[in-house]
Amino acid sequence: MIEGYTGKLPVPTPGTQPFWDGTQAGKLVLPRCGDCGGWTYYPRPFCMHCFSWNVTWTRASGHGTLHTFAINHLPAKGFEDVGKPVIAVVELEEGPRMITNLMIEGEPDPDAIPLDAPVEVTFRAVTPGITLPWFRLVRGGR
Ligand SMILES: [Zn+2]
Repeated sequence: MIEGYTGKLPVPTPGTQPFWDGTQAGKLVLPRCGDCGGWTYYPRPFCMHCFSWNVTWTRASGHGTLHTFAINHLPAKGFEDVGKPVIAVVELEEGPRMITNLMIEGEPDPDAIPLDAPVEVTFRAVTPGITLPWFRLVRGGR
């Protein structure tokens, strides 16, 4: 948990609560369609592919690849302790792309962050009730 965290927080709704319950438990849980088999992100109670409401909250692998990223040289409020945030788009193994943060040790160097690199989810508790899904590079591949 980040002591004294004052940054913006997501506000879980009945339609997204299973996602936030999952992150709190250290799991990436997404809606998976019982009709077309597709996975949906951002969290919502219906399928983004065929609009079916026949979805089941299902644990995703937490693995993906780095699609793109940007280094924010002005840290966002509440994230001063992480230095310069690396805002990333990760393509999950299951298909959906997530906008997220990429955890980097030390000063982020764009030349040391390869596109299409394998990444995995990691969880960052920011308050007692909210845990955010971040990603980190998988060194040496998987
Ligand atoms: Zn579907």
